[in-house]
Amino acid sequence: MPDFDPRALAVVERLNTAGFRTVLVGGCVRDSLLSIPLHDYDIATAALPQQVLEICADLRCVETGLKHGTVTVLSGGLPLEVTTFRKEGDYTDHRRPDKVTFTDDLSLDLARRDFTINAMAWGQEGLIDLFGGCADLEDRLIRCVGDPDRRFSEDALRPLRGLRLAAQLDFSLEEHTAAALRRHIPELRYVAWERITTEFLRLLCSPAAPRVLLEFPEAVVQILPELAPSVGFDQRNPHHCYDVYTHSVKTLANVPPDPALRLAALLHDVGKPPAFTLDEEGIGHFYGHPKISAMLSEKALGRLRLDKATQERILTLIARHDLPVEPTRRWVGRWLSRLGEEVFFDLMALKRADGLACALPGGEREQIRSQAEQLARTMIAEQACFTMKDLAVNGHDAKKAGLHGPEIGAALRSLLDQVAQGELPNDRDVLLTKLSQKSGA
Ligand code: ATP
Ligand code: MG
Repeated sequence: MPDFDPRALAVVERLNTAGFRTVLVGGCVRDSLLSIPLHDYDIATAALPQQVLEICADLRCVETGLKHGTVTVLSGGLPLEVTTFRKEGDYTDHRRPDKVTFTDDLSLDLARRDFTINAMAWGQEGLIDLFGGCADLEDRLIRCVGDPDRRFSEDALRPLRGLRLAAQLDFSLEEHTAAALRRHIPELRYVAWERITTEFLRLLCSPAAPRVLLEFPEAVVQILPELAPSVGFDQRNPHHCYDVYTHSVKTLANVPPDPALRLAALLHDVGKPPAFTLDEEGIGHFYGHPKISAMLSEKALGRLRLDKATQERILTLIARHDLPVEPTRRWVGRWLSRLGEEVFFDLMALKRADGLACALPGGEREQIRSQAEQLARTMIAEQACFTMKDLAVNGHDAKKAGLHGPEIGAALRSLLDQVAQGELPNDRDVLLTKLSQKSGA
């Protein structure tokens, strides 16, 4: 028997004992058969939500989605999503069934699930596998339950879930499922952006994301149409052996699985096709492309509904990805101060990944980047001054020195720049003198 948490099994048993067929279902059954750690438990039951609440009255219950049949039961601190068996309703909008119908038939509940590996259950009798999920796990295949065309057109998020799952588990798409998936990708336009973004970011951060992104560029382009011109775009430059899209995916593969970094990597060269020029020797150049990439990405990130701070972080990384690095205290201080610590190191990671995804990974450039990073760590440990709040003078001092309005911010920023670059000491007397010089007092 797989290694399920006894706190989950206790609730399954309790509902069964009360006379309602109850099973573990979905991701926890799949992952336990794969011997990978379980991160959440879904329970399916013949009991109606009201009955679940009564039977579990001594446990903490949250009425998560009573209309959809879901109660979250906390068993010894472990949250369990307990959902009444449902059967497939009609879909008319490619999004959600028109209405939710409860049933006491487990096989109908399993038949409405998206993929065979997600449609297995574990009950008192052991594994319940009506659609060949176990065989597909062994073959490492994502296959729809039932007719893929029908299943994808019912809920247009399913194609993206299929790709996310393939990337997460490093599975392949079964042939008919893959073909239908390509046909139904355009219907993603009916799906709310919040749902798309959740699945898409999980896909981007999954171990086999690069393979899936290269196999299904049409899905990426549906979500990020700005990337369409990059697919197959020949760079005509000896420094680059991949088309722009392939290079972008390979860059993504080389950054850590953080959503902002992965999006920055995927979009960093989106401005290359519009910036493309050919010189007399027939060599391609992309002057000024980081700015164009940032402009195009701003629209894309807004659509994905990312929070403003994350959008800013990604756009800074994209706009600065070609910044030449100097391994000097002056350069490192300036950019630690301008970007902040986190974005500084993210930028180094992006530049390193970008370099690795080219024809000739530049050994010398990598050495310079490593030196700059090392220097940054040393300077941070020395508690050098990189932010306004570390500066030995503040707005009050600037006012006292006779500066007004916007002059104050500008004067402090200019002092901070000089201090961060090591041109001025972070010494109150020195900085006060500078402030009074600026005000002309
Ligand atoms: P993970 O938790 O790792 O994302 P999971 O399979 O548990 O994997 P959930 O989103 O928690 O994914 O969904 C739980 C189960 O509900 C799935 O295993 C699947 O059986 C079913 N399911 C979820 N979304 C859909 C959908 N859009 N269409 C059909 N079935 C779905
Ligand atoms: Mg789950």
